[in-house]
Formats: sequence, C-alpha cells, structure tokens
Amino acid sequence: MIFIYCNNCFTEIKSNPVQINHTFGYGSKRDGESVEIHLCENCFEKIFLEKKLNLKLLEKKLKKQLQKDFGVEN
Ligand SMILES: [Zn+2]
Repeated sequence: MIFIYCNNCFTEIKSNPVQINHTFGYGSKRDGESVEIHLCENCFEKIFLEKKLNLKLLEKKLKKQLQKDFGVEN
C-alpha cells in the first residue's frame, strides 16, 4: 500500500490526488531535475483556482485535442 501525502498541507490523500510530474529541460536552471507533486483537492483549489489561473482554457484545449485525436464528442 502506497500512502500519498499532499505536498502543501501534508495530509494523507485518500482518493483522487492531483498529480504533477515534470522534468526540467535544457536551458533551465534545473536542467534534468524531475519533480513529482501531489496535491489534495482542497489545496489544488486554493492554489490554482483562487489565483484564477486559466484552467478552463486548458480544459477546452484538451477537449479539442481529444476530439481531434479520438473523435470524442462533447
Ligand atoms: Zn493539501
């Protein structure tokens, strides 16, 4: 059994962790470093939604991409 903890509030995430995996590329100060971030749903909302980052746009882009790639209707 793997326990996943939120990187922001350090509570255990029982279900639906928000997961971010990223490897920094050439030209970055962190060239070649990888990070794995887990957030609970509450922290995700606090960090991303309250700062009004444009996640809707991403959602729309993803939908368009899905429609293009798999013919998914939505
Ligand atoms: Zn949290």
